[in-house]
Amino acid sequence: MKSWNSKSRKKIIEFLEEVIDDLAGWGCYAEEYFQEKHDLSGDIKRIEGFIEEVKNIPVTYAICDGCGKSIQTSYCPHCQRLWES
Ligand SMILES: [Zn+2]
Repeated sequence: MKSWNSKSRKKIIEFLEEVIDDLAGWGCYAEEYFQEKHDLSGDIKRIEGFIEEVKNIPVTYAICDGCGKSIQTSYCPHCQRLWES
């Protein structure tokens, strides 16, 4: 079971924040023309928006490896499987 816990969520958020830092870090060296051409601020906003989405996913959320549906516990009511947590 691919469990979605607070640890993995934190890791994803930290990684995405690093991506934003890197993107903004080198992006500011590009001329304004190229920043706009490649929509640098739009890319950053897109990642920031995704971070907000990730923050709003409940920490108990998990995906059943058997049927791919979201489950709240280690037992999947959709395909009646019990996963080790
Ligand atoms: Zn299932």
